[in-house]
Amino acid sequence: MKKAFAPVLMSALFALSGVALAQGEAKRSITKIAGDLYRFQNNFHFSVLLVTPDGIIVTDPINADAAKWLKAEIATRFGKPVKYLIYSHDHVDHIAGGEVFAETATVVAHAQAKRDIIDEKRPTAVPEITFSDELTIELGGKTVELSYLGRSHSDNMIVMRFPAERALYAVDFIPIRTLAWKNLTDAYIPDWMDAIARVEQMDFDILAPGHGPLGTKADATAFRRYMNELHDQVIKADRAGKSLAEMQESIRLEAYADWGNYDKHRALNIEGMYNQVRLHRRGN
Ligand SMILES: [Zn+2]
Repeated sequence: MKKAFAPVLMSALFALSGVALAQGEAKRSITKIAGDLYRFQNNFHFSVLLVTPDGIIVTDPINADAAKWLKAEIATRFGKPVKYLIYSHDHVDHIAGGEVFAETATVVAHAQAKRDIIDEKRPTAVPEITFSDELTIELGGKTVELSYLGRSHSDNMIVMRFPAERALYAVDFIPIRTLAWKNLTDAYIPDWMDAIARVEQMDFDILAPGHGPLGTKADATAFRRYMNELHDQVIKADRAGKSLAEMQESIRLEAYADWGNYDKHRALNIEGMYNQVRLHRRGN
């Protein structure tokens, strides 16, 4: 997701609390998800960490300040070094600051993420281990399974399954009871829906996203249905010769009116899907 997210919501937070936080002060916490799996929050971004007797597996570092805080907290709470650092995808708002852990950790990501990190000069540690489809990491008798499920919100997005904890960490491509981000930035349609369908085939109960509260597998199904409905309605309207402005007026997606960002992102989601549909219909 884009950087604008945090400032907008932060100012809403100030207005609600009536207290001006010091500039740069972040909302950070570590909370247990299940067993030895924990959730790390930095403002509106989340990652997860797995604690094992032989060290810690950390996922998205978020940014350098967040990573420094997390590193110190891990030392205090668990007294173990970070042995692996795994990136969900190449986007800078999730993976900046990886260098904070580089002294003790092996950095892991999808092969295409590594290419983007180098080409785009992302401010983070360059991955040392990459893979294309699947990779299982074992540490201290604990396991995390990494899978690439095809293109979705990016072309290098992986999911991380923690079998003992029955949890899946999936970032940016399965918002929970929330519309997709803005105009589906960087989206690949219809591969995105296929990637979610693959998530639904996986064995887990808890869905840990990169933004917002925890969910379940049912939330993945609900979001895929939302994307399918958006796709179907836009394609139907496009075939009927409707303009984008007409679609934004007529496609209401009312079944999702109680979801997060419905008022803010409905018209933008339609615009994003319209661009995707036009892209695929080009040449017809
Ligand atoms: Zn992203």
